[in-house]
Amino acid sequence: MQIQDIRQRLRALAARPVHEDRILRAWLQARALDQRTRRQSEHYYPLSLRKGLPALQADLEALARIRSVHPGSDGSARLLVELADGQTVESVLLPRGGICVSTQVGCAVGCQFCMTGQSGLLRQISSAEIVAQVVLARSLRKVDKVVFMGMGEPSHNLDNVLDAIELLATHGAIGHKNLVFSTVGDPRAFERLPQGQVKPALAVSLHTTDAALRARLLPRAPRITPAELVEQAESYAQATGYPIQYQWTLLAGINDGDDEVERLIPLLKGKKAMMNFIPFNSVEGSGFQRPSEERAWEMTQALRRHGIIACLRDSAGQDVDGGCGQLRARALGQQPD
Ligand code: SF4
Repeated sequence: MQIQDIRQRLRALAARPVHEDRILRAWLQARALDQRTRRQSEHYYPLSLRKGLPALQADLEALARIRSVHPGSDGSARLLVELADGQTVESVLLPRGGICVSTQVGCAVGCQFCMTGQSGLLRQISSAEIVAQVVLARSLRKVDKVVFMGMGEPSHNLDNVLDAIELLATHGAIGHKNLVFSTVGDPRAFERLPQGQVKPALAVSLHTTDAALRARLLPRAPRITPAELVEQAESYAQATGYPIQYQWTLLAGINDGDDEVERLIPLLKGKKAMMNFIPFNSVEGSGFQRPSEERAWEMTQALRRHGIIACLRDSAGQDVDGGCGQLRARALGQQPD
């Protein structure tokens, strides 16, 4: 089911635009579709709409359900979410009111350090299923920020992700800069995002300044150089006023050297940018190691000394299979306990 299907169904039930807006808002706030406005709906909703709402409510609830909740010690919680066809994806409740949602089941980019990438793309997630992850999170707690950084490359499911972003902004009371679109650098994202009514903030998975290494680590990411990627991202940052949130998974002995720091500084200095270093969340058999805390801090401080905003972050819920796709892999028995 897509968002457009929900709208068409409401119209088929004789909903007027004002009804449609009210019902979509109720859904996005995780309320019963006619709960808050029941008295109004008795007077104003057409009979066909009143009769059709319970079935629609049931269908929306069937889009996604929480299979398990895994609270982390950092205030986050990983949710294993089951979609209507039995496929599972991960959503993460982030500390301070954010949620990270998945946009695909699996992912075609195949990043070497990512469990999701190892399965390849299994299917797209519909626009309604993306929104349903936010609704599920709101059934648990307040959500005022949505980052599209869970399983999948949002640019590979662009129409559905952009439809979800628009609905979350217009009917979900989420500010544009609190919607964070993430990409490995797909040109379609740079083409489409500036054209949208709703312009989300942008996160770019950079991971290295070395084009050849990047091609190895992200084997099916677009073949543009890190410098070209930063240039395109910077244009979007200047157009929107939101800094680009660069993501860098730190892999010991791979992309945590002084050479990377020396190339990063001129690349980001003076740009509307912030760097998030995320030490790799060790997975048995991955072939990658987590760098020491000291080394991660050295890199962070080196950028800061040059006036670049840099943060050292842990993958949320690190203590509960925090890397993307690890929870799902364990649920499917693809990763040892
Ligand atoms: Fe896909 Fe992101 Fe995993 Fe790379 S890190 S394989 S883009 S889900």
